Amino acid sequence: MAQGGKRKTEAGCLRPGFEDRACPLCGADRPESLWQGRFDDPDVAGHLAAFHYSGFSPLSLTGESFRLCRCGDCGMTYHRRVLNAAGLLRLYGQWADAAQARRFEEAHRQAGPDETARDARRRLRLVLRLLAIAGSQRGRGAGVPGVLDYGAGAGGTMVAATALGCRVVGVEPSATRPQDATGRGAVIYPDLAALEQAGEPPFDAVVLDQVLEHLPDPLPVLHRIAALTRPGGALFLAVPDCRGSTVPQGFDQFHRVQPLEHLNAFTPDTLDRIARAAGFRPVRPPPAFLGTRLAEAIRAAGAVLWQPRTTDRFYRLDRT
Ligand SMILES: [Zn+2]
Repeated sequence: MAQGGKRKTEAGCLRPGFEDRACPLCGADRPESLWQGRFDDPDVAGHLAAFHYSGFSPLSLTGESFRLCRCGDCGMTYHRRVLNAAGLLRLYGQWADAAQARRFEEAHRQAGPDETARDARRRLRLVLRLLAIAGSQRGRGAGVPGVLDYGAGAGGTMVAATALGCRVVGVEPSATRPQDATGRGAVIYPDLAALEQAGEPPFDAVVLDQVLEHLPDPLPVLHRIAALTRPGGALFLAVPDCRGSTVPQGFDQFHRVQPLEHLNAFTPDTLDRIARAAGFRPVRPPPAFLGTRLAEAIRAAGAVLWQPRTTDRFYRLDRT
């Protein structure tokens, strides 16, 4: 199935490879096309340019095609043709570095002190809700709660969890992005395999904030996350809300199903189904009350990328 790899373009840069895949939710291969095209189509290339990738040459993708599909068996919407493992490593290791995040932020969001403080409060409330979900199942004397942020990005959620007294562990492939959090004592692994080998104790709460849509094979990752989570532990999943996705009109819609990065176009329904398939049951988010002093204390948590409207869901790992 894998194609490409070592071809050279006219620009002389090594060409990233693409490969086809089956439905990431049910594994069937009965795709019904919703939107297809090539990376050098003018509107596609124009939207991709607005992501301000570092060291990215559109020439390296000339002639490559993408295809957004709906699964004929289960209804999941997904990109059938995606960057292969080496291509994804290049995307997240080089093209989407800290400088790209800064440029993207400057271009698409009016970041300011108010926004930074709001984001810090949002992350504190998120961790408080997760601890409340997990806490209802924790025994007496359970000790310091462990929080895993898979795809930690700039590390804002790790900073919030650290401020709330948790043991905090992150997974983040970009070496340049989460420096803020590592400076405050959080532990960051470059990938899931490194975390699994480290033998960390099971986590009470796990966060995948704007992560699952990026993964070419999300269900096995959720199974591995479940194996790292204490029974009764809490999970937070946030992804772009892709209800009604078809041929995108404008940048916001393009962003949701961006064919390099947003490989899985979840809806609340398909998000719940993939979580359930890994043993997580949807739960209502409990209330979280927050004073302003703590939020102000961590308002330097770092920038957060502007994201389209999201599907935010809480889950609990069923006991087995
Ligand atoms: Zn399917």
